[in-house]
Amino acid sequence: MKEVRVRFAPSPTGALHIGGVRTALYNYLLARKHNGKMILRIEDTDQNRYVPGAEQYIKDALKWAGIEIDEGPDIEGPYTPYRQSERKEIYAKYAQQLLKEGYAYYAFDSADELEAMRNRLKTQKGANPQYDSTTRMEMKNSLTLIEGEVNEKIKNGEPYVIRLKVPASEEVELIDLIRGKVTVSTSQIDDKVLMKSDGMPTYHLANVVDDYLMKISHVIRGEEWLPSAPLHVLTYKFLGWENEMPAFAHLPLLLKPDGKGKLSKRDADQMGFPIFPLNWTDPKTNELAEGFKERGYLPEALINFLAFLGWNPGTEQELFTLEELCNAFDIERIGKAGAKFDIQKANWFNQQYLRAKTDEELGHILMADLKVNGIDCETERANAIANALRERITFPKDIAELGKIFFIAPQSFDEKIASKKWNEEAIAVMTSLKEEVKKSDELTAKTAASVLEKTTTSLGIPQGKIMQALRLALTGGASGPDLMITMALLGSDEVSSRLTYALNTLGGK
Ligand code: GLU
Repeated sequence: MKEVRVRFAPSPTGALHIGGVRTALYNYLLARKHNGKMILRIEDTDQNRYVPGAEQYIKDALKWAGIEIDEGPDIEGPYTPYRQSERKEIYAKYAQQLLKEGYAYYAFDSADELEAMRNRLKTQKGANPQYDSTTRMEMKNSLTLIEGEVNEKIKNGEPYVIRLKVPASEEVELIDLIRGKVTVSTSQIDDKVLMKSDGMPTYHLANVVDDYLMKISHVIRGEEWLPSAPLHVLTYKFLGWENEMPAFAHLPLLLKPDGKGKLSKRDADQMGFPIFPLNWTDPKTNELAEGFKERGYLPEALINFLAFLGWNPGTEQELFTLEELCNAFDIERIGKAGAKFDIQKANWFNQQYLRAKTDEELGHILMADLKVNGIDCETERANAIANALRERITFPKDIAELGKIFFIAPQSFDEKIASKKWNEEAIAVMTSLKEEVKKSDELTAKTAASVLEKTTTSLGIPQGKIMQALRLALTGGASGPDLMITMALLGSDEVSSRLTYALNTLGGK
């Protein structure tokens, strides 16, 4: 097998969409699996769509996700430069080769002339309104003009493009590693522009030339590029590179959570989840779109989630480190069907990875968040609180959100629970308990349980009847971590004082 060399080739036209991260990931996994190379190529030949900051954003996002680049703009490598705008002369050279060998031609048609041609064809039944073998001889190009005229126009600086001369009707075949054999008739393909009037190549020419020169072994990209693939195959042939063509793999679309249609930024906005890996401020509108990172997704969780959007290992295993993914990945296990973007699943992965963190790591997150709110907490206590909450969190910020009850006594109480559970029995237990807890020097979960047991037994009240009232008095709410652990984490003085406050507020002094 020849060396695996793959490329992620984004255009810096804005923030990287989460689907782009998946494409980068699949490329990366294949490269790592085969000890190959992962290349980042910036496809910035469309000057009208260039967005400042987008290239840096792409690099930052890949770095955050843990997708390492072996060759690319700042890293360089054997096929530098890796930014297409810096490779203009290279494309011009191959466009000249195609012209010379009769596979391409100059075209001088103005926008109005092109428009007129399309309008004319639209009215003719069955005709494809495009620049191709059926129409090119009626247009203004180097096939219809005499050589002298062509040279004259070029010398006079008249704007022109270079078009590929697509055969009238030939079958183009390609093998897609995901979809199998794809056959398209050239009658469906128009004479695509290869070089634009600004001297820049189009995506089609630049892509083929660079994949060849950079010795790319596999082109792994989104399904939206499948219709362009036959044109690329034709270009490889015309350039004499048919035997060095990369293998193609077009990834299934990312669908809305309900599976109906392609996932868009608007859908994500509406459903309240991010679509970009990192925060992105649109330079035109100044609008900030929150990223997965800032929303609290861990990169390893997001990567694991994305890996499963279109691929599966064929086993029951769901949790994979990036390294494990590299070993398990196989293009053959990528499905054809669109992959539903189920954000609940992403949340599940996040939970799993958060829970796998140590108490120290979670405690650290808690302390940092508390500090922002001016609350100090000792490491040991923070770790213990994190331990009590680990099963209940989805995002790192949840630790402080759920943990604040250990630092701020409730000011109000859930009314529904209060009206149902704050009764004579509860009052009797709380009144006695607030004195009893003070008697034990150090409240642990165990001593808390025995104090409670002693109190309820001596009053002859079943514990089950007052547990919710106790939680209400201590936390103000109806749910939270284990109550005995909660008491231990609060300490006897705080428990006693909260019980006193609840008795004063809810009644039953
Ligand atoms: N520049 C293209 C894009 O933005 C790359 C397509 C490809 O990978 O060939 O998606």
